Amino acid sequence: MRSQRPFLIEALTAIGLIAAPFVLPYLAFTPTTMSRIVVWGLFGIGFDILFGFTGLLSFGQSAFYGTGGMVAAYLLIRMGFPSVVLAVIIGMIVAAVVGYLIGLIALRRTGIYFAMITVAIAEVFYFVEFNPLAEYTGGENGLPGVPTPKLPLGFTTIHFDTDWKLYAFFGFWYFIGIVIALRIVRSPVGVIFSAIRDNPLRAAAVGHNVHGYKLTAFVIAAAYAGFAGGLLGVLQGFMPPEAFTFDTSGQLVIQTAIGGAGTLFGPLLGATVWLYLSDFFQNTLHLGATWKLVLGVVFVLLVCFLRRGLIGGIKDLYELVVRPAPKDAAAAASPGAAGASGKTSGEIRVAAPTPRRPRAADTISGPILEAIDLTKRYDGLIANSDINFSVRSGEVRGIIGPNGAGKTTFFRMLTCEVPPTSGKITFEGHDITGKSVTDVCQLGLTKSYQVNQLFTRLTVRQNLTISALAERRGKFRLDLFKHIRKIRGLTEQVEHTLDLVNLTGRADVPVSALAYGEKRRLEIGLALASSPSLLLLDEPLAGMSPSERAETVKLLKSIAHGRTMVVIDHDMDSLFEVVERITVLQEGRVLVEGTPEEIKSNTAVQEAYLGGVVAA
Ligand code: ATP
Repeated sequence: MRSQRPFLIEALTAIGLIAAPFVLPYLAFTPTTMSRIVVWGLFGIGFDILFGFTGLLSFGQSAFYGTGGMVAAYLLIRMGFPSVVLAVIIGMIVAAVVGYLIGLIALRRTGIYFAMITVAIAEVFYFVEFNPLAEYTGGENGLPGVPTPKLPLGFTTIHFDTDWKLYAFFGFWYFIGIVIALRIVRSPVGVIFSAIRDNPLRAAAVGHNVHGYKLTAFVIAAAYAGFAGGLLGVLQGFMPPEAFTFDTSGQLVIQTAIGGAGTLFGPLLGATVWLYLSDFFQNTLHLGATWKLVLGVVFVLLVCFLRRGLIGGIKDLYELVVRPAPKDAAAAASPGAAGASGKTSGEIRVAAPTPRRPRAADTISGPILEAIDLTKRYDGLIANSDINFSVRSGEVRGIIGPNGAGKTTFFRMLTCEVPPTSGKITFEGHDITGKSVTDVCQLGLTKSYQVNQLFTRLTVRQNLTISALAERRGKFRLDLFKHIRKIRGLTEQVEHTLDLVNLTGRADVPVSALAYGEKRRLEIGLALASSPSLLLLDEPLAGMSPSERAETVKLLKSIAHGRTMVVIDHDMDSLFEVVERITVLQEGRVLVEGTPEEIKSNTAVQEAYLGGVVAA
């Protein structure tokens, strides 16, 4: 997210594309092979945004590659379209529209089911190209006669009619494709893509429209595929029907895996290795049909030994040799270590609430949250039964109850993660029953989880940024070309939350390197960064050592100032220090409500919940 040299990657890409014709021919690369690599690389940029950045593995990209290519070729050959570039752009737009419609269907499912739908859709497109639409697509013959591009300059016209000129043409479009992709991945949308890849449920819970962003990634990938398909026709002089085959989609996935997913350049590098080796095995070693077997073995070895692909391997080597991990990482992980802010973990101070956009809760005087006769049944089991519960603005409430009393289920209903079987929830006077968890978070009600739900491949700062973005931008916005640093107030909000949860010194550390107590604080920070009007904390002290526990209690006391909070925990001594009132749940019902003193001395609580331990 931070870049000291903003155009370095773009400049290196341009240099690489210009230098390639002077270097690669010495390694037996022909200009046509280089053009093919560049077209595959461009095709792969979109796929990498979809798979490497958003975590959606599609085996159906051939559908959009073929569609874009066929539309462009049809316009140029059958309709006599004068401009190759315009035809390719129209092919791209058609592929993107088709991608939107397919995405609406395919993204209804996740994981393996999503992948299976994409396979099926690609097969349907292959069939349609060969049969009902054969008159337009040429069926098994494809569409021959795609012209080479021309660039009229007024005083002269450049014809891209030689192999090297065509390479220059494709190289230019690859460069444009990379520049656009870099803008996208550096935008808020790109960061949200990574959040969805890591933890789609939490991305939705912090207030992002996950379906909308997944669809965006799908359309972007379809657009890149469509554009690359158009260039394929130009490269070969005819549009081959093979563009639609499953082999095309499979080769794209393999090349991306070899080069490294989530890098944008992985598909280009993967295509270089794949096409070079296939040429080498077939034309130099004359392996005949065996070349596919050898290539398969090479692929398995590469994926086994370089799990993050060639670029991932190069990065790991660089980290190891040139930039070893900072020694303070482990030291700072231990409780009590000083952060970059100079503040030790024991010195949590009272922090002001995060500055945020005004919400209705700021002005309401009555209860901010009310649950009326809330019931949740799981088949025969009643998890919550007729719960009536209300919280005033500014109140800090605790909820206790034995294991299985229904506390987490109650929270899940309040944040609309699960719908109640019956009953009603109002927040800030509005009925929120049946709303989505995303909408409820956008209204200002969110929670931290009993089991950490973090974005594990990202840093602490990136985690908090994802949450703060939802508050700053709303649940969906297509600011694809805006740099994330240009979002007003975002940096301040993230820095403030880092300070609040005492993780300033660990801001750029990946989540995987955090100690357990730090992860718990980040879990709370994720909820805080969206600046909720009402914050629910589900067992914030769960699984902590005594020192981490003491530190987190201080943190809870600190964030309780000026906030409305409801906290579930089993550690009653700690909880009683933080909250003003307690609600006790037992067997899914409210047993009693009162101040900590009243609860401690309540005989019903002692007998039913504490088993007389407190009385003793
Ligand atoms: P703990 O303190 O152990 O976290 P809890 O008070 O939070 O417990 P819940 O997790 O809300 O209790 O569970 C209440 C009851 O509902 C339990 O009997 C649990 O097994 C059941 N339950 C919770 N979620 C589901 C589900 N998705 N399907 C079926 N039963 C469920």
